[in-house]
Parts: sequence; C-alpha cells; structure tokens
Amino acid sequence: MISLKTDHEIEMMARAGRLLESVVEELREACRPGVRTIELDRLAERRIRAAGARPGFLGYQGFPNSICVSINDEAVHGIPGRRRIQEGDIVSLDLGLVLDGFWADMGCTVPVGAVSPEAERLVRVTEECLALGIEQARPGNRLYDISAAVQRHAERHGYSVIRQFVGHGIGRHMHEEPQLPNFGQPGTGPELKPGMTLAIEPMINQGGPEVYVKPDGWTVCTSDGSLSAYFEHTVAVTRHGPRVLTSSTGSMRMRAAV
Ligand code: MG
Repeated sequence: MISLKTDHEIEMMARAGRLLESVVEELREACRPGVRTIELDRLAERRIRAAGARPGFLGYQGFPNSICVSINDEAVHGIPGRRRIQEGDIVSLDLGLVLDGFWADMGCTVPVGAVSPEAERLVRVTEECLALGIEQARPGNRLYDISAAVQRHAERHGYSVIRQFVGHGIGRHMHEEPQLPNFGQPGTGPELKPGMTLAIEPMINQGGPEVYVKPDGWTVCTSDGSLSAYFEHTVAVTRHGPRVLTSSTGSMRMRAAV
C-alpha cells in the first residue's frame, strides 16, 4: 500500500525537509580538506538536536552514526570515522531526520577543492539525473517514469546505475512503499497520485553497476573501484507537479558546476 499524505502531513514533512536542507548546506560548507568525517557527523547531530529533531539514521538497523559519508569509490552508507577528507575527493553525504514524527531524507555529492574533470562530470550528471527524475514526479505519470529518466541520462553519458539500492516512499517512516529503482521502463509501475511522497536518489557509477559491501557491514563500494556519486531529495507529488520538500523553494537548486 502506497500511503497518500494529506496537505497537512506534507507541510509537516516540508518543515522537516527545510531543516534538513539547512543542515546539509552547513555540512557542504564544512566538507573541506583535512576535516575528519566524524566531525561532519558530530556537526550534523548537534544541529539536528538543537532544532528539536532527531537524527534518523542513528541506530537505524544498527547504523552507528547520524550521517553517511562515502568517498570516491564508496557509493553509499559509508560510516564516519577518523579518515580525513582530501583535496580532489568527491564526498557523498546522506542523512535523514525526524521532526514531529515526520521524516526527511536528503543527500548530495560534494566535490572537494579541485577535482578531476571526470569526477566533476560524474557529479554534475548525477545531479542532473535527480533533477530529471523529480521532473517526472507528477500526477498521471507512472512510478518508473522517474526511474527511466534517471537511467537514460546516466547511461547516455556512459555511466551505470546501481541496482541493489533504490529510492523509496517516505513519511512517518524512512522506508515506505513503493521501492523506487533508478532503472526501469517508462510508462510502467504504479500511477503517481497527489499525496505520494518519495525519496528519489540516483546512485550513479562511473564504471560498471556492480557494488559490494565492505567488511564493516555498511559501506557500499564499486566493484571496479570507479567513482560513484549520489544525490537525493524528498519529493511530494502534488496536483501542480513535483514539490521538493527538502528545499525551501519547493524546487531543486542545481549545485554542481556546469
Ligand atoms: Mg533515502
């Protein structure tokens, strides 16, 4: 069952989303050479708690921290620690919070300092994949129209889409129905209706789609060691089209240099 949110519930999620956006902005600023990934985690947890919210990832299925930090060939679910961020890294940040019972989930890949042109292109195309996916989140479309838009854009640039991890419905829980793969046939899947709320999260590899999980039990890496990038927003399907709940403007702001 895909739950449809009321207008009130969507406003509650948008409150959570705006708070999350502000935390992600601060983390993006803090993502500098020499910073330990655990410092980003502490910063996020402090900001989230100070605003009266709860870091949603902390303890989720045993995850030990408030944010995921995944660097270069690490795709998603990296555990913060003593590792220092370096000039030229691409750093994927992923975090969720719960405010007054409602979830928001968001993330981005941050190019740190001067990155290679190949890394910059991957980050830009992945962000464009998210924008194109969001564009499809409108009534009358089908769920996999979102998936197909992401996949088409990634593959046309010679990249591949991770298959084992997918986006998801979101609301009073982080993971609600439906699952939202980043690949699929346009015109298929459940019909999109006003009130659906989705975490859309393209995970795009420079090389092949295969990934493995490190012995820490969490960190997902590309099998061929190629770079991976990821962007995510929490989005509501509304009568007027997609509304990005993790953005104070309601729409997506492109950040990667074009
Ligand atoms: Mg998510």
